[in-house]
Amino acid sequence: MTENLNSELQFIKGIGPKRAQILKNAGIKTLQDLLYFFPRKYIDRSQILTIDQLLPDQEVTVLGEIKHQGLRYARTRQFYMVLSDGHGYLEAIWFQGADYFKDRFKVGEWVALSGKVTFFRGFQMAHPDYDRLGEEGEELVNTGKVLAFYPSTELFRKNHLTSYFFRRIFQQIRDSFETQTEFYPQSILKKHKLAPLTEALYTLHNPQTMAGLDPARNRIIHEDFFLQQLILLRTRHLHHQNQQGIAFEKPGFTLSRLYNDLPFQLTEAQKRVMREIRADMKKPSPMNRLLQGDVGSGKTLVALMALLIAVDNGYQGVIMAPTEILAEQHFYNFQRLLQDYDIPVSLLTGSTKAQTREFLMADLSRENPHIVVGTHAVFENAVHFKNLGLVVIDEQHRFGVSQRTRLMGKNAQADLLVMTATPIPRTLALTVYGSLDTSIIDEMPPGRQPIVTAWRNETQEPSINKFIGERLAQGEQVFVVFPLVEESEKIDLQSAAEGFERFSRLFPQFRIGLLHGRLSGFEKDEVMRKFAAGEINLLVATTVIEVGVDVPNATVMLIEHAERFGLSQLHQLRGRIGRGKKKSWCILKTVGELTDIARRRIEIMTETNDGFKIAEVDLELRGWGDFFGTRQSGLPEFRMANIIRDRAWLEKARQDAGEILAGDPGLEKEEHQALKNAVNLFARRHLRQKRLS
Ligand code: ADP
Ligand code: MG
Repeated sequence: MTENLNSELQFIKGIGPKRAQILKNAGIKTLQDLLYFFPRKYIDRSQILTIDQLLPDQEVTVLGEIKHQGLRYARTRQFYMVLSDGHGYLEAIWFQGADYFKDRFKVGEWVALSGKVTFFRGFQMAHPDYDRLGEEGEELVNTGKVLAFYPSTELFRKNHLTSYFFRRIFQQIRDSFETQTEFYPQSILKKHKLAPLTEALYTLHNPQTMAGLDPARNRIIHEDFFLQQLILLRTRHLHHQNQQGIAFEKPGFTLSRLYNDLPFQLTEAQKRVMREIRADMKKPSPMNRLLQGDVGSGKTLVALMALLIAVDNGYQGVIMAPTEILAEQHFYNFQRLLQDYDIPVSLLTGSTKAQTREFLMADLSRENPHIVVGTHAVFENAVHFKNLGLVVIDEQHRFGVSQRTRLMGKNAQADLLVMTATPIPRTLALTVYGSLDTSIIDEMPPGRQPIVTAWRNETQEPSINKFIGERLAQGEQVFVVFPLVEESEKIDLQSAAEGFERFSRLFPQFRIGLLHGRLSGFEKDEVMRKFAAGEINLLVATTVIEVGVDVPNATVMLIEHAERFGLSQLHQLRGRIGRGKKKSWCILKTVGELTDIARRRIEIMTETNDGFKIAEVDLELRGWGDFFGTRQSGLPEFRMANIIRDRAWLEKARQDAGEILAGDPGLEKEEHQALKNAVNLFARRHLRQKRLS
């Protein structure tokens, strides 16, 4: 079927081929697209007052006759006109388009003006919205009612696709709203008091009152979430049903051995999560699980236990870390814990020697159980696993979806466990990761001391130094972190190097170390090893220490230029301390005046250690598109819903979607056919949608 080049919109009176083309380029091709092109805001201009009733700063509508009009020159050219309604006089002025308006309005004509009233030698309105009342019986389109304002682009403005234009069109095509058929079950409309489809669309474009907008808005917001959740949950269901996976039958011999050998008890949260993972791994369908837990909550141990289940059943398992340092740390950790067990554990990173690598590859190409710890660099090359059973991805937020997919391509049947210490607000987890099951470790291992976080500026440097000196004298260790400026590795290194000089002069009696991204993997490792062993007292570092490294004796972290860090990064960094039994301090040192957003970031850091709360604020400050990138999620954008503002609706819609699918997983029932069509249409939308700025 060839696509009709002419959109159906061009035949609507007042649109025509040229504007239809512009709309089409903006993703508005069909009548339905047009009806779903919603106003970005509303202003209540329904209050019509006489001029003697006016007060400054009100948003009102006034009707009256034009008494004088003309051009005036005061800095710029202005058009003004004076209106009377028999109760007083009002002046309207335009600072732009003076000539256009001069010709448009005639003395003696009746007009309605809407806008904000100011008082300047009499009542004024600047750039009011207007309706000319000359033609008898003409309805008020732009005044005297709740006014809709539509999104706009440069191109829209140039071609007069203004709010005026859209208001007129939507009033004119009022019969067309009937073409949209309801696809919601009545029960859902009733349950949440949502407007039926036709009514909702009509009201959103032709509102009568502000209060009347609510059921209409709620309907479309619910619809956005509802359709999206139906897509996600249906996909997940199909995936579970059709995908052949591995059933890890054996309970896990080494797993129970490790469990007994651990010098501590698992936390209740760890136990719960392990039960969830074991149940998933036992099933013949592939596991798709997201594990969230704050820094230090003990995710790595959970990952190891899951890997042991795979190995106990004769499979290979792999854990992928975002940096070499972290991969190395996992590797040494695993080696230490498994030293008495007969399980091969290997490290595979960019710096692995060719010979070691070949040896490992040979082993992996046979059916030998094996645990591989690596970085993503490794998996970009050809590593062939003969029987890969489990893939664990650590610090999920640092990997793109494509990397995840590529890794899964190594064996589509393998179970997948993705872990993140950047807690994903529940709302996001339900959307971006809606097709994953989630587990949460919401409890820290016992005995951790809360970290005290303080905000300081550069004038307080002497007292900061004094404090650091005291902690060092107590035998405790200190991190000093400098920001990583990506464009300029040199400056970055320089500031860290200067910091190193400064602290070396300040504390000659202590050993100061320097760690930065330009050291080789081996050198980094050497520095970290010394710090962990207590041979370095104060470590000056760039953000390379952000993830993983565990030094329980480090009790102070000074973050220089804290205003330059993102919120989740600050939280990650802070997670490097407070890992032992001693009290810890995080000092956020800022320089100069802060932007509002930077200030808010620092404030929330001083208020809470709760990673979920921090993630919520981060999401709010950054906006969700930036937080995870909608494109990365591969999901259609919403038409009205805002994931932060409307999160309560997301929960409701998800539940509704779950209930519908529980009774009809494939949406095969007769009464769900319209709904199924709507879901499919929504799923296709993201392929062609373009967002208006
Ligand atoms: P995460 O990966 O979530 O940041 P880790 O797994 O690295 O956290 O755990 C942080 C530290 O806590 C490690 O030293 C680990 O051995 C220890 N740990 C993990 N679970 C427990 C527990 N249940 N009790 C005590 N210590 C634990
Ligand atoms: Mg970790």
